[in-house]
Amino acid sequence: MIRILLVPVLLATSVSAAFAAAVAPAAMPVAPPASPKIAAPKLVEPHLHIVRSGASSHPRIALTFDACMGKADDRIISTLVKERIPATIFVTGRWLKRNPQALSVFLHNPDLFELENHGQNHIPAVDKPVSIYGIAAAGSPQAVRQEVEGGADAMRAAGITPPHWFRGSTAKYDLSAIAEIRAMGYRIAGYSVNGDGGSLLGASITEKRIASAKDGDVVISHINQPTHAAGEGVAKALLDLKVRGAEFVRLQDVADMGDDSTTQ
Ligand SMILES: [Zn+2]
Repeated sequence: MIRILLVPVLLATSVSAAFAAAVAPAAMPVAPPASPKIAAPKLVEPHLHIVRSGASSHPRIALTFDACMGKADDRIISTLVKERIPATIFVTGRWLKRNPQALSVFLHNPDLFELENHGQNHIPAVDKPVSIYGIAAAGSPQAVRQEVEGGADAMRAAGITPPHWFRGSTAKYDLSAIAEIRAMGYRIAGYSVNGDGGSLLGASITEKRIASAKDGDVVISHINQPTHAAGEGVAKALLDLKVRGAEFVRLQDVADMGDDSTTQ
């Protein structure tokens, strides 16, 4: 009698143990095996919109460009200057050091270019250890602060007006880093149209994406990859938008709405 009762109990025990063993790793797919106690942080990629013009013939669009590292894309910069198209440029300390000529163009056209903070070294503003697209995140609140302050310090040293907006490398954050950066006095710049897929898209698809921006959109693309095909598409799209009657604005010129507590 005792033996009969024990069998289902043993079965149940072994089944649940096996189930737990099979399920446990899957429940933490991103956690590195060496430190299973550290849960992967929840990352957000916030959206940002600007107040619409409400006039379909003049869609209001904020063009934002990231100058992450590397060089300057003169196909885009010269089109912006020649066509007198205003834009917001997010620069890193790292990029500023290598591109004094492009910086000089920005500073000589203050009616066109708003310069904002993209960090000191292009390190993702996530305060827990994680890798995003192969880039190691800041990893601690202190390192997030250093990335943001270091970016602003480099801008001041280069003669740029103190920034009010921050956009981190990869445009991804965890919520505690967002709260920390907001407490430092910044608005955080998400976007609503990914124009160039990190500058990795082809010219025609990039042109199509940006040229089809709608009233109230914030477009993100890159201004630091002069050898990539995407930049050619960006430059063409600027002309397409102008033909459409777009009203180009910088982030400092309009009211905005960001999600994930990035601007409220
Ligand atoms: Zn970047």
